[in-house]
Amino acid sequence: MNISEKVRPAAAVAAGGILYSFLNLIPIVGWIIPGATAAITIKKNPKTGFQAGVSAGLIGFAASTYILFAFGLFTEVANTALKLLIVWFYLLWHASAIFFSGCGGALASGIKLLEDHPLISPFKSFAGNEGSKYVVCKRCGRGNQEQSGSCENCGEEVHERGV
Ligand SMILES: [Zn+2]
Repeated sequence: MNISEKVRPAAAVAAGGILYSFLNLIPIVGWIIPGATAAITIKKNPKTGFQAGVSAGLIGFAASTYILFAFGLFTEVANTALKLLIVWFYLLWHASAIFFSGCGGALASGIKLLEDHPLISPFKSFAGNEGSKYVVCKRCGRGNQEQSGSCENCGEEVHERGV
């Protein structure tokens, strides 16, 4: 594991958070995209994808809330009952959005895993997509590019078949 592999998840989640802070205004689609973007960048299993999506959502939520407070949009409302209603709606909206962001992350990394599945990846390399052979990891079964040296998923050393 090198430094870029440690920085990439943090950068991916931060980027997802920025996306979330404005995309959360669009229900469903805008909620799924931030998590999916973070998960695709991290390229891990669906569980990590879900966590990445939720983390991106939480960062975006914190940023959105900060902006709302900075512009005084909460304190502008004088009616207490209305204020309470708005706060509840706001929290419910973001709880849904954060959950969908997590699902988007899980879904995206699931699709990414499927794409790299040993049953599918040989066809990809056969089609000349990457122009290199794939080696299936002995530990976790992930298809890796032959020259990569270590498994992208678990870090196990991968070598050419039969070596
Ligand atoms: Zn592996």
